[in-house]
Amino acid sequence: MTEADTITGKVYDIQGFSVHDGPGIRTTVFLKGCPLRCPWCHSPESQAFKSQLCYMDLRCIGLKSCGLCMPLCPNQAITPGACSFSQAQQTDIQTIQLDRSKCTDCGLCTDTCYSKSLFISGTDYTIEEIVERIRRDEDFFKSSGEGGVTISGGEPLCQAAFTIGILKACREIGIHTAVDTTGYADTAVIEKVLPFTDLFLYDLKHMESLPHKKVIGVPNEIILKNAKHIARSGGKLQIRIPIIPGFNDSPENMDETARFCAALGKSVTVVQLLPFHRMGSVKYQRLQQEDPMPSTDPPTAEAMQEHLKHFTALDLNVVIH
Ligand code: SF4
Ligand code: SF4
Repeated sequence: MTEADTITGKVYDIQGFSVHDGPGIRTTVFLKGCPLRCPWCHSPESQAFKSQLCYMDLRCIGLKSCGLCMPLCPNQAITPGACSFSQAQQTDIQTIQLDRSKCTDCGLCTDTCYSKSLFISGTDYTIEEIVERIRRDEDFFKSSGEGGVTISGGEPLCQAAFTIGILKACREIGIHTAVDTTGYADTAVIEKVLPFTDLFLYDLKHMESLPHKKVIGVPNEIILKNAKHIARSGGKLQIRIPIIPGFNDSPENMDETARFCAALGKSVTVVQLLPFHRMGSVKYQRLQQEDPMPSTDPPTAEAMQEHLKHFTALDLNVVIH
């Protein structure tokens, strides 16, 4: 048994046929845990490093028809909840209520929840199990010409040994490899990942460290340093910039971001401007968390075109999506 056989990682999703996480058709493996706290995060279940209970009340068939979860909880974290009209059953039903302060995310209640209203986000896999899953999609990678695997998160470099193990195994069998990263990692980790990574999907959120730290919780110096390091080392970067109204969308910040990307030279394959959207809102409800940005509107199409100009002016290959 090699060391790689004993390494496991915590994964919260595996998506085949992904066309938004790098070139071609890809299989994206989402790892759990992130040191950043972006208020616009559309995958709040990716933030905690531990497995977590999720609850989707719309799927609950109600205490009268089911109620199996309640007596199973060793901590009395599940109690009768509110009555509301169920479209599926065309009548009022009483669903459950979760007390997060009592829940230990043990997952016992999920065993009997056949409607999958209660489920655990975060499963441990070995490298071999993940590679086996990726290989099932090999024909699709080939048919799309340039597809492959993307390791995303969360922050995949926080589970560095697991991430490297998957990348290395995929490289050995000729599968294109990408890492979707915040860039917030030790440069030593970046160096270890570099030889096995064909493309970094690399987030840039704000060029000034103070607002970066105030809003996201961490400064940006190491992120900028690592981007330069990847470029200098011959790595390829697909830069992703979330456009967040009121945070990073000033002309000054756009201009500075564009100049930073241009300075990275030929290593930058494309810059993506990603307009803020509210599609992650429902996921906060599943964790009984408040949406940190409930009233922010997405940027207008006109505003996005204005942002684009900062990048086209420097001859960068830039797209909006
Ligand atoms: S087991 Fe699932 S469907 Fe049944 S009452 Fe509990 S949450 Fe609802
Ligand atoms: S995950 Fe465990 S502690 Fe939490 S509600 Fe379910 S049974 Fe109770």
